[in-house]
Amino acid sequence: MQSKAKKKLIKRGDRILTEKPFVYVLHSKYRKERCDNCLVSGKVLKCSNCQYVYYCNRACQMQSWIMHKSECNSLKKIGSRIVPDAARILSKIIIKLDSGGDLTKSYYTETSFRRFKDLMSHYAELKNDAKRVEHLEALHSVLCELMEDKIVPNMSELMGIYGRLVTNGFNILDPEMNAIATGIYLGVSVTDHSCKPNAVATFEGTELHIHATEDMEYLDWSKIFISYIDLLNTPEQRRQELSDNYFFLCICSKCIDPQETVEMNGGVCPNKNCSEMVNMSLNNCSKCGTGISPKHRNAYNEVLALTKLHLENMKETTYLDICKMCLPRQKGVLHPMSLWHVKTLDAAVESAFSMEKWNDALEFAIQLLPGFRKYYGMWNPLLGLLYVKVAKLQLYEGFFKEAQHNLKEAFKIIEITHGRDHTLYKETLTTLMMQITYELSK
Ligand SMILES: [Zn+2]
Ligand SMILES: [Zn+2]
Ligand SMILES: [Zn+2]
Ligand SMILES: [Zn+2]
Repeated sequence: MQSKAKKKLIKRGDRILTEKPFVYVLHSKYRKERCDNCLVSGKVLKCSNCQYVYYCNRACQMQSWIMHKSECNSLKKIGSRIVPDAARILSKIIIKLDSGGDLTKSYYTETSFRRFKDLMSHYAELKNDAKRVEHLEALHSVLCELMEDKIVPNMSELMGIYGRLVTNGFNILDPEMNAIATGIYLGVSVTDHSCKPNAVATFEGTELHIHATEDMEYLDWSKIFISYIDLLNTPEQRRQELSDNYFFLCICSKCIDPQETVEMNGGVCPNKNCSEMVNMSLNNCSKCGTGISPKHRNAYNEVLALTKLHLENMKETTYLDICKMCLPRQKGVLHPMSLWHVKTLDAAVESAFSMEKWNDALEFAIQLLPGFRKYYGMWNPLLGLLYVKVAKLQLYEGFFKEAQHNLKEAFKIIEITHGRDHTLYKETLTTLMMQITYELSK
């Protein structure tokens, strides 16, 4: 047992784990714009042999060669076809395990470590999942092509490796939180999920950092939770995603609280002076007692169905005109803090940004802040980045005082989720603050 003296207090914002990936693969859609080694975007040059992967410079190419040499010739033969990311990462795992990687230990405390074989594979569940088996069979044939003369493990062994990848694979995120690569991190795999996490994973390049977002008496990994999924979803959606991908039923405090679902679907109280998130299946507002008329309930049901339909259709691509059609119809019916209104605003911000409609982006981003705070919690990188977006837009629109205020909020959050030594904090945010301060001093 650990002695009391050794139990060090963990404070919100402390980094409790730093880890390099066991293996990782840049998502193929970024291969011509990001370095296959360090993942940095910018001017990249292709490998002259395979012409498939790109590097920012010779140093990155050299560093990458130890892994790339085994795939370079096969990638060349495959030619212009895109190799599935999953096949590429599987081949890297196999090669790594064959060259001593099976003994690699990644420590998450001074004395506790994990090896690849310690990761959960959910072998039994996967074996009975027809879709997964089909996927793996397809990957197997790509693997044989990719690995040529090297030995591709038999299906059962491959299933064990694939299972560990599916269950433990991390999306490596760029500073804007876009998933740019997939990586396997051994030590962090000890961390369980909660929809109400007390720690957060962020990345500096390929390096993974876990920061505590709550104070803790001491470091106990059995009590540390990160979120594996997007929290801007209903408990049913979250549980579905978790059981599909991680094979467990979430019983976190948020998933078992019926009030959670009521609030997410909350309607507006007919009493103008009441701000309660009303359960529209009841006859009265539970706070002020005002009756809910059938007309009000019908309007609610109609708008809710319309909103859900459009959100479903916009899963791949968001459309500003559709969001702009839904949002006014939600007014006075869907509660402003209901999940569906917040999700519509989120889609509106995304589409306004992609269309470079800065006025719309700013308007919707400001409205989105309280919703993000509610669903993601205060110490979440997405909330921090939303404040950065708002501050940037306000700077360009000339609202310098407001920009300064919102950037200060961003600093508070990013300091906890990323730390002061992260590039996002010490470069991006600091430069932005200097610009704002300069504008204010003019
Ligand atoms: Zn590079
Ligand atoms: Zn190559
Ligand atoms: Zn949960
Ligand atoms: Zn009420």
